[in-house]
Amino acid sequence: MDLKHLEGDMEGIRHLLSHLHGEVTALEATYSQVLHVLRKLEDRAETDDLTGLMRRAPFFEKWDALIESCRKMGQNCGVLMIDIDHFKAINDNHGHPTGDEVLKRVAELLKQYESPDCFSGRYGGEEFAVAIRGTDAEILGRAEMIRRGTERLHGRVLGRDGTPSANVMWKCTLSVGMASSRKEGLDAPRLLRAADAALYDAKRKGRNQVRAA
Ligand code: GH3
Ligand code: MG
Ligand code: MG
Repeated sequence: MDLKHLEGDMEGIRHLLSHLHGEVTALEATYSQVLHVLRKLEDRAETDDLTGLMRRAPFFEKWDALIESCRKMGQNCGVLMIDIDHFKAINDNHGHPTGDEVLKRVAELLKQYESPDCFSGRYGGEEFAVAIRGTDAEILGRAEMIRRGTERLHGRVLGRDGTPSANVMWKCTLSVGMASSRKEGLDAPRLLRAADAALYDAKRKGRNQVRAA
């Protein structure tokens, strides 16, 4: 075969390969951009906008997984149902922007305690749930830390436009209901019901306290 002809063909193939390499690189970049957008959408669907905590449904999914893992490993776990005390009065007395600020600050406090063995979710308006793998003493200890930490929270009341007031401050407390698998078994709905009943008990007995089921 004519050597010159062959070299020409090789040059053509090299050119084609380098072109293909460029196309593949561009496709890879597009693919990673699409993945990035999908991850962001997923985060937005799973996370509450105001507090940055998990929404109810993803919290329950993780809660079920924690129960399953405790079952396999023969470990204890529990759940805290948390509700801010007289939150309606905070909104009524200081306005919605201050109410929102209180929710954010309580959520920040809950996030400080997050670990692979402890996670929180926004259960509803001013209600939160915390799932914990550990002994009853550890779970109750965590509940008490959250209650005391919240007692120490304070801030300046915010105006309608979010401007902090010069001298009016807000404070808040919360009530906690605790239930653990030691007493209720590794039964997710039963644990939530028991923690909810304990929370109701904490409210009835005067608020700003932790009650165990
Ligand atoms: P209790 O001590 O018995 O829990 O009384 P409470 O006032 O905390 O409970 P209640 O259920 O009467 O009021 C809850 C209020 O929370 C009513 C609702 O307007 C308010 N709320 C719910 N979600 C939000 C929110 O995202 N932002 C603000 N600012 N308020 C909210
Ligand atoms: Mg409530
Ligand atoms: Mg409340």
